[in-house]
Amino acid sequence: MDADKILENCTLCPRKCHADRRRGEGFCGGGYLPKAAKAYLHMWEEPCISGTNGSGTVFFSGCSLRCCYCQNYPLSWENFGAQITTERLGEIFLELERQGAHNINLVSAAHYVPQIINALDICGKRLHIPVVYNSGGYENTETIEMLDGYVNIFLPDIKYYDNALSEKYSSAPNYFSAASKAVGKMIEIAGKPQFDENGIMQSGVIIRHMALPSHRRDSEEILRRIQDMYPPGSFLLSLMSQYTPMHKSGEHKEISRRISTYEYEKITDLAVKLGFEGFMQERSSAKEEYTPDFDLSGIIRELS
Ligand code: SF4
Repeated sequence: MDADKILENCTLCPRKCHADRRRGEGFCGGGYLPKAAKAYLHMWEEPCISGTNGSGTVFFSGCSLRCCYCQNYPLSWENFGAQITTERLGEIFLELERQGAHNINLVSAAHYVPQIINALDICGKRLHIPVVYNSGGYENTETIEMLDGYVNIFLPDIKYYDNALSEKYSSAPNYFSAASKAVGKMIEIAGKPQFDENGIMQSGVIIRHMALPSHRRDSEEILRRIQDMYPPGSFLLSLMSQYTPMHKSGEHKEISRRISTYEYEKITDLAVKLGFEGFMQERSSAKEEYTPDFDLSGIIRELS
């Protein structure tokens, strides 16, 4: 893939900021070389993704969605991480497989899709495990199409239905429109969820929704909309209760607390009533210790 051609006038995400990333960074913080903050075996994804060995996760620096409550704000807002070559990124994928990873899990990778495709081409047939694209959902369908043939599993968030909320908390007024189209494309590419004999996911889509405090109605609207929009059985749903007020969430009183049991139960009750299959998180998961420390492990140790 000619990454330079794409990066000289970047429209990879719905921001379409047209940055020339050969010379500097766009809104998302993405420059010319991939930048990442951690690569390791992550045990806290859904059971069919983390399995017993862990998911071979690469946390990319920067983000086109900067949510005010982001748990990974050192990456998304502060662009913490180390620049690496495309070749090094391919090596990292192969190292994670050698460590026993069930999959390669690309977290917040939209702004590095061309470089990731080139890294996967370098790996070629030496990489034997599924590739997971783990996203905030704020994506262009054209960028998702580039991943056809490279990504097996999509893990998109759908964060908001109401544009006023997506603008207020993530500066993204057209969030639901972009995310819902992108998820439709992901379902088209990945097909129905498939698992191996040990229950480890091999392909398909898991739509994640992390319920926000004070916004139960928006969560419920998302459930109704995705049930209407996508064919039955074409995706799994992962409802998350782990919201923890962090970073700039204190600027908004209504989200300066954890979600209540009442709120979460109302949302899960509706998910059950609508017949979704998937995962529901225990409310005890709302703890800051589930947020990884970003210490560049797995990223820069072989660079010198
Ligand atoms: S990926 Fe980054 S540089 Fe490209 S359009 Fe989006 S915000 Fe701009």
